[in-house]
Formats: sequence, structure tokens, C-alpha cells
Amino acid sequence: MTLENDQEPAKYCKFCFGTEEDSTLSFVHPCRCRGSIHWVHNQCLSMWFAKANAVQQVMCIQCQTRYQKQLTLKSWRSWAIPRFGIDMFGLLEISVDLWITWRTVSGFVGMMNGTKGIFREIILCTMWKCFVASGRRFCYYGNLGLQLASSIFRVSIDDYDERREIKVRLPTDMDWEQISQSSVLN
Ligand SMILES: [Zn+2]
Ligand SMILES: [Zn+2]
Repeated sequence: MTLENDQEPAKYCKFCFGTEEDSTLSFVHPCRCRGSIHWVHNQCLSMWFAKANAVQQVMCIQCQTRYQKQLTLKSWRSWAIPRFGIDMFGLLEISVDLWITWRTVSGFVGMMNGTKGIFREIILCTMWKCFVASGRRFCYYGNLGLQLASSIFRVSIDDYDERREIKVRLPTDMDWEQISQSSVLN
């Protein structure tokens, strides 16, 4: 799509292809993606987050931008009972996390009391580090917390260009893109 510089490109949602004329739904530009996937409806993005996997809820897979989510307190009339979208596989993973964590902690206590060996504890700690304390699991539990919070908070996504304006106003040595890439998957 080629457009003149002085002309604003027509906004349309990358999920439902709806334009500004089709509805009054609000648009957001949550990441660095441009062109046909520049704009998305806030509502469509929320619906997609409900189905996306843990990492996809934290960052855009195409451009690796980490989303900035804001919580605003809803009026108490809109408060709802939290609903967790945990499936059987999710339950299994949480059980495994809890089991490894429990074995690691009880192994550590046993080691301090002299009833369990250090070698066994090293294996357990390594397992804990690999399976439980991983970036993927942190994303997962972060999203569960957000789901819990969404019963009384409205979750909204910051516009990426507005974030960049803040960066321009406050010059800093830190590279925004580096921060958004490094803080997620490690
Ligand atoms: Zn849409
Ligand atoms: Zn993107």
C-alpha cells in the first residue's frame, strides 16, 4: 500500500478489518508493527489476549515489542467474580510447578537438618530453575494475576507511539527496544 506523506492512512483493524466508519470502537497501535497490521481495535485485542498463549499476551511475536498494560479501577458496579481460563494442561503444569517447588523446599530443609543429601538438592534446584523459574512460566503466572485483577480493573494497552514520545522527551542511554526484548524471555 503506497500513501502520500501528508495523508493519514485509513485505519483498519488487523483482526476484524473494521474501519473507523464501520463502528465507534477505539483503536490502538500497541507495538512497532506497521502497514496492514498497524492498527487494532482495543476490543479485538482483548478478545485475542483471552485466547493467546502466555508469551503472546506479553509481547508482539512479529516485532518483539513488549506490551504496556495499564490497570484502571472499574466502578464497583462493574466488579465481577474472577474467571480463570485454566484448561486441563494448565492445571497439570501448575501441579508440576507446585510439586517441584515443594520437593525443592522440603529437600532444602532436609539438607539443613542433615537428613537429605546435597547432590539430590542440586538436582532439584536445577529442575526448579529450568521448569518453574522460566520466562515462560513467569509470563503465565503474570497473566493469571492480570486475569484476577481484571475482575475489578479495566486492562488497557498503551499506544506504542505515545510511549515513543515519552522517550523523546526524556533522553536516556537505555535503548527501549533492547529493554523490551531482553526482559521477557530470560
Ligand atoms: Zn477489530
Ligand atoms: Zn508488532
